[in-house]
Amino acid sequence: MQLTSIDIAFFSAALINFTSAVMLAGFAPATPLRNALFVYAAGLALVAISLLTVAFRAWLGISGQDWLITNTTSVLSAACLLISIHLVFDRTPPYWVIGTVVAILVVLLTIFDGDVDQRPLRNLITVGAMMVSMFWRASIALRYQARDERTPATAMALLLAINGSVMLVAIVWSSFGAKDNPAVGFAAFTGTVISVPVIVTLLMIINRRSQANLRKLADTDSLSGALNRRAFFEHAEERIAGATIAMIDFDHFKQINDRHGHQAGDRVIATSIPALKKHLPPTAILGRYGGEEFVVLLPAGTDADTRIEPMRLAINTTASTALGRPVTASIGHARHQSGENIDATIARADQALYQAKAQGRNRCVADI
Ligand code: GH3
Ligand code: MG
Ligand code: MG
Repeated sequence: MQLTSIDIAFFSAALINFTSAVMLAGFAPATPLRNALFVYAAGLALVAISLLTVAFRAWLGISGQDWLITNTTSVLSAACLLISIHLVFDRTPPYWVIGTVVAILVVLLTIFDGDVDQRPLRNLITVGAMMVSMFWRASIALRYQARDERTPATAMALLLAINGSVMLVAIVWSSFGAKDNPAVGFAAFTGTVISVPVIVTLLMIINRRSQANLRKLADTDSLSGALNRRAFFEHAEERIAGATIAMIDFDHFKQINDRHGHQAGDRVIATSIPALKKHLPPTAILGRYGGEEFVVLLPAGTDADTRIEPMRLAINTTASTALGRPVTASIGHARHQSGENIDATIARADQALYQAKAQGRNRCVADI
């Protein structure tokens, strides 16, 4: 039995897909997109199997018009890659739709197998599934890309659209070209070559996603979900001009801990601060200043005066529900004056908070 150069080409394409599959599967656990990468790796492994069954047909004892394994693995790979890209871009894959279409295509492939005259139809199904998967993936990468993933996601969409177009050419060629033309081989090789830069864009997206996750972890206070002190100052210093600073401090928090336990105190913070966050305008910056003291920056142009009291009420309501008895908070607030640095505004808000405490707590006091 002799390997032809076409067999070797199919084998090389299989090797590229297999190597990529192993690399992605090995890389997957260390990334925030573990499952998506495993499914992608499975898709590539299926492509590799499909190509191997072409390269080693004689050795595997596959007879002339038996293309069932080759075509079925190919259709399954299109489905896997489509599911994976849904997961990469945080979409729920339409499993029912994909599963039903795959089942129908496999039935059709079984029916049309074994007959040389049905070859264009089988090619249409197999390469068509690839093509639809590619264009669908391209549209997902375009539609659901995050702002800081725009470059790699757009590049991915572009490459997939080119790849989908190659599949379209192969379908037309296979359907209307000379009998026994190399359309499917052309689709397989070109598809494999383009799949490599597609994987590079995928890795770039994963890299950016990991960095964003780490940055968020480093900036966020884990109990309250507010920014930590360092991150608050980083963001707030840029927005301080004309802004209002509100210092929020729970009343008699030490008593809450003493009477109900530290965990109850934690629960109060863990429920009321996220609730407060929902209450704030999207441009507001919320940070944990220290202990049970929080700080909010309401940027210039937000109607700060009418927002502060509802903030306090929102905290009181959720905190009381969390503890099962009344909990209150006090707020001191100050508007940034021109020429003043952020520390000075915070100091004035703190002074106002001190007055709120002195006046009996459970209130808002403005520094004027
Ligand atoms: P005031 O009304 O004057 O603010 O009284 P206070 O008891 O709230 O103030 P004080 O500063 O005396 O005590 C604050 C307490 O908050 C002490 C500290 O143990 C507690 N605390 C700070 N951070 C946390 C936290 O993350 N979880 C819990 N459970 N307690 C915290
Ligand atoms: Mg307190
Ligand atoms: Mg305090």
